[in-house]
Amino acid sequence: MDASHVDDDLVNVLFTEAQIRERLGELAAQIEEDYAGRDLLIVGILRGAVMVMADLARSFTRHLEMDWMAISSYGSGTKSSGVVRILKDLDTDISGRDVVIVDEIIDTGLTLSWLTSNLASREPASVEICTLLRKPEALQMPVDVKYVGWDIPNEFVVGYGLDYREKYRNLRDIGTLAPHVYS
Ligand code: 5GP
Ligand code: MG
Ligand code: MG
Repeated sequence: MDASHVDDDLVNVLFTEAQIRERLGELAAQIEEDYAGRDLLIVGILRGAVMVMADLARSFTRHLEMDWMAISSYGSGTKSSGVVRILKDLDTDISGRDVVIVDEIIDTGLTLSWLTSNLASREPASVEICTLLRKPEALQMPVDVKYVGWDIPNEFVVGYGLDYREKYRNLRDIGTLAPHVYS
């Protein structure tokens, strides 16, 4: 790994750390209201949703449980195919539970569409989706998303958990990469 600063390759910042914090606070408040008086389990999708989970969960003023899944979708390079494999399943039995899946971005929707029906088959009381970002133009599969941070154009973004070849996840802001990174 070279010594350059992690921010150097970002050309266009879409959302700053402060904007992300604020938006997640709003989403947490909305979720709290919707699940008032009920036990909530939030499920983060590794590895991209780590930052979103950490900040969303800490915006809550009530108890909640957190669990994690790791899934991989077979596909060529950056394209997802919708064929999904579970690498790490939930540790929690979700039957009868209220579940909110937390993800960082919905692109084609193939992964979350598969995951939602997989979790629904375990007979939870409810399953909803919360995503920080969504690309409406890229959607190939209808996914019913209850909580969305922002809709964004169909561009490849990095930072705040989002990687390019496993780098840039630790950026505090979200943005697009300089063209030289890809060449
Ligand atoms: P999809 O919705 O296409 O099934 O897949 C979503 C997954 O593709 C995300 O969880 C993320 O890992 C990856 N992905 C989609 N769009 C982007 C993007 O703009 N930047 C990054 N870094 N990953 C993305
Ligand atoms: Mg993800
Ligand atoms: Mg990735």
